[in-house]
Amino acid sequence: MPILVTGGAGYIGSHACQRLLKDGHTVVSLDSLHRGHRKPMDMLRFAYPNSFTFVHSDLGDTKTVLDTLNTHELDTVMHFGALAYVGESVEDPLWYYRNNIGSGIGLLDACDAAHGGRGIKRFIFSSSCATYGDPPEGMIPVPEHCPQSPTSPYGFTKLHFEHILKDYATKREMQDNPIALTMLRYFNVAGSDRTGMLGEDHTPETHLIPVAIDAALGKRDSMSIFGTDYPTPDGTNIRDYVHVEDLISAHALAMDSTQIGQVEAFNVGIGKGYSVREILDSVKRVSSVNFAVHDAPKRAGDAIALYNDPTKIKSTLGWEAQITDIDEVVASAFNWFKAHPDGYGD
Ligand code: UDP
Repeated sequence: MPILVTGGAGYIGSHACQRLLKDGHTVVSLDSLHRGHRKPMDMLRFAYPNSFTFVHSDLGDTKTVLDTLNTHELDTVMHFGALAYVGESVEDPLWYYRNNIGSGIGLLDACDAAHGGRGIKRFIFSSSCATYGDPPEGMIPVPEHCPQSPTSPYGFTKLHFEHILKDYATKREMQDNPIALTMLRYFNVAGSDRTGMLGEDHTPETHLIPVAIDAALGKRDSMSIFGTDYPTPDGTNIRDYVHVEDLISAHALAMDSTQIGQVEAFNVGIGKGYSVREILDSVKRVSSVNFAVHDAPKRAGDAIALYNDPTKIKSTLGWEAQITDIDEVVASAFNWFKAHPDGYGD
């Protein structure tokens, strides 16, 4: 099946391209390279010369996206391309709304106009557990029916785009031309492709595991824990860390299982929460380096505790995380960072 992957040069998008190509699909990756990297695109083109194409474009460039959908006869879109830092979204909310929603609508315009106005058939959206904010009492682990009340502009961009997609799916239904729409609400994605080809290279890097690995590798003198008096057992935030390869398996299953006319949302997380301190202990175990850690003030926009109730995705898609040992998740990330001290170097 030919698939458009937006944000295909980014961390998660590149892993998606690799997995879909391995599964025998034809993949067109579209990325502005604002935060994505050309190197993984070159590597995938070398490995899959007949089934992989890279298009350098902003996803809000409706004309280029439309040409791409039509030229490559793409009926399925996996939409990863977005800005994805909670803290940054608090500092520059308009940029986040403009990019994640404004450009996203540009993409949807192209999806709607494609194939002579018939439109695409399948859309899989990278949503986020950040849409839940701080769940009400009794809602952790978090099920899909948990009220969505984000604590950051980033979370709001994902929630608003879910609504936009649902409205678009309704319009298509009313036109007797339905689509399959799946919204995957990711918990914290971590780790790297275990063949060692692809990794995580963000500038700036703000995510917990890569920052801690940087400290372990001596690329920074120390690191900070943002908030140590949260109402959690050790006072630090709790998150659910899902391995990137497991996350992409959920996309593959969603693509195959969601039928035309269906609109579904699934949480993707392993179902177990780790505190910031537990993650830092894991990075210290895996790296055998006791790097310096400082207590720091809370970061604006952070929810207190979020981990998944995986019941729905397990019973509906048959998805279950294969990598549930946090040290294994951290080790896959650590190995890539150690082998690539300058990231992709581009
Ligand atoms: N965090 C931290 N120090 C860092 C980076 C992150 O204490 O240098 C904390 C952050 O406050 C949050 C958790 O680690 O509670 C996960 O943050 P991350 O940015 O990795 O993902 P997010 O949950 O924001 O998507």
